[in-house]
Amino acid sequence: MNTLNDFNFENKKAIIRVDFNVPLNDKFEVTDTTRIQAAKPTIIKILEDGGSCVLMSHLGRPKGKQDEFSLRHIVKSVIDIIGCNVKFVDDCVGDKVEEAVANLVDGEILLLENLRFYDEEKKGDVAFAEKLSKYGDIYVNDAFGTAHRAHASTTIIAQFFKENKCFGSLLAREIESIDKVLNNSEKPVLAILGGAKVSSKITVIENILDKVDHLIIGGGMSFTFIKAQGGKIGNSICEDDKMELALEILKQAKAKNVQVHIPVDVIAADDFSNDANTQICDIDAIPDGWEGVDAGLKSQENFDGVVNQCKTILWNGPLGVFEMESFAGGTIALGHSIDKATKNGAFSLVGGGDSVAAVKQFGFADKVSYVSTGGGAMLEMLEGKNLPGIEAILK
Ligand code: AMP
Repeated sequence: MNTLNDFNFENKKAIIRVDFNVPLNDKFEVTDTTRIQAAKPTIIKILEDGGSCVLMSHLGRPKGKQDEFSLRHIVKSVIDIIGCNVKFVDDCVGDKVEEAVANLVDGEILLLENLRFYDEEKKGDVAFAEKLSKYGDIYVNDAFGTAHRAHASTTIIAQFFKENKCFGSLLAREIESIDKVLNNSEKPVLAILGGAKVSSKITVIENILDKVDHLIIGGGMSFTFIKAQGGKIGNSICEDDKMELALEILKQAKAKNVQVHIPVDVIAADDFSNDANTQICDIDAIPDGWEGVDAGLKSQENFDGVVNQCKTILWNGPLGVFEMESFAGGTIALGHSIDKATKNGAFSLVGGGDSVAAVKQFGFADKVSYVSTGGGAMLEMLEGKNLPGIEAILK
């Protein structure tokens, strides 16, 4: 793997694709700086070597040049987090940028304007990528969140750097962590898949059946499996058209010797709201008019037992409607179980959208081995796909 440590950046300009697609409030202040913090080690290594950094990123989904999506809004946060001055140029290609790059001296950082102000970025336009490539001697990709996109700055640009290209330290860690789960894992290996829909995780399940010893299927997804086996699920969410697939997955799991664990009891609510009436019932005997919204206590205990016998743990998707306090218990209990297993030496990786939000919200982010920064990118890797942004560096 080509990493930062293969290069000495002294007197070199690094053109770095970072993921500064951060949330802003209505005063255009950054409300979650995780992604900026995540890029810091790469930037610091290059500056410490005696090089300079040209940072490029997208922000949101602008239609042309729209000031509300300007990266100008985040400059102050980048300065605060990196701890040194950051210059900003209000374009990402053209004369102004060329001049700013030419004037950049070792030890300095320049942030370019939002790449998606140009349609060419998402189209993967070769001429646009070539222009960007002129702004650095070495191309560094540190944006895992967009590594599954063949955009100009994430993939196409790499062809203009024969050997002078590498992964930033964040992207390298992401690749290593997923590899540790999928290919170089210590057994027993457990995957926990929760969340709302079977359909969004089906390819992941199919791919990981070859890699895991245990599979926990929780959250809204579990009801499709229960109904498919003849259980009564009341008003719980279910994808009827995926029931056959659910049975097929269970069959495949058995054939591959994977132990599947599904909740045995649930908290059922008579309304999809935090102050609904609730009762605990067996997952296959939910009364009409009630819907399963969280894992029950017996299930939590069962899952704790499974988690704590495993040495490698992947968690994607909450066990209940954790956004509502009353239905967050199962997800929190699972967080505690994974915390305990990690303290006892297991490697735990949390990734993919909502489970990342959940571990942050409930304070588990620094208790697991690694929290992935890329939702879609992580899911595609778990599906067994080669990501174009990663391939482009390896080529
Ligand atoms: P996903 O994006 O597929 O990981 O799904 C995450 C969403 O699943 C969260 O917003 C949860 O509220 C939701 N979810 C988890 N369990 C349930 C459930 N039992 N019923 C409805 N939604 C659920």
